[in-house]
Amino acid sequence: MEDFIKTNDGFIQVTCHFCFEPFEVQLEVSSENFLKNSEIIDCTICCNPNKIDYEVDESGIITLSITDGND
Ligand SMILES: [Zn+2]
Repeated sequence: MEDFIKTNDGFIQVTCHFCFEPFEVQLEVSSENFLKNSEIIDCTICCNPNKIDYEVDESGIITLSITDGND
């Protein structure tokens, strides 16, 4: 599942894995974390943990997927 929108203020709008509501996250996109990254971020609407796997290159975030962070 890939679903994200880059907003103008540096945030990424993603869709919650649990409640399917959009919420905004801020992810690190520096040259120190090019390629694979993952973070667990709680949904601002339902508070469930979303595991966000994303890849970064010099143009910013190139892929992003959201799965269940309850592992
Ligand atoms: Zn949610």
